[in-house]
Amino acid sequence: MTRSSLPAAPVPPAVEPLAPALEAAHRHGVRAATAGLQDAALGGLRLTGPGVPTLAEAAVSSATPFLRSPLLGRMSAALVLHPPAGTTSGRCPTCLAPAPCPTAEALLW
Ligand SMILES: [Zn+2]
Repeated sequence: MTRSSLPAAPVPPAVEPLAPALEAAHRHGVRAATAGLQDAALGGLRLTGPGVPTLAEAAVSSATPFLRSPLLGRMSAALVLHPPAGTTSGRCPTCLAPAPCPTAEALLW
């Protein structure tokens, strides 16, 4: 097998700053909640009127910490394994890449 016939190495996803991504996710969540509260399938429980987006914002804001907590817990555990500062050798103790390793960089806020 020649080198040119090998499959291309996977390209890692671009690491974007987390805060804008979380804000965008929140806006999408509020839009989805607004649509959901107004869904005709709710029948008599369906909400309408100018207060619906405010209610949707409140619902998403209240739920967000509970939705994020499992993910944040796993991110914290991964950072223990891949500390951004590495060890005294300047390398990640888990993957041995120079610190900060790619995993630590992906997990930074
Ligand atoms: Zn690492």
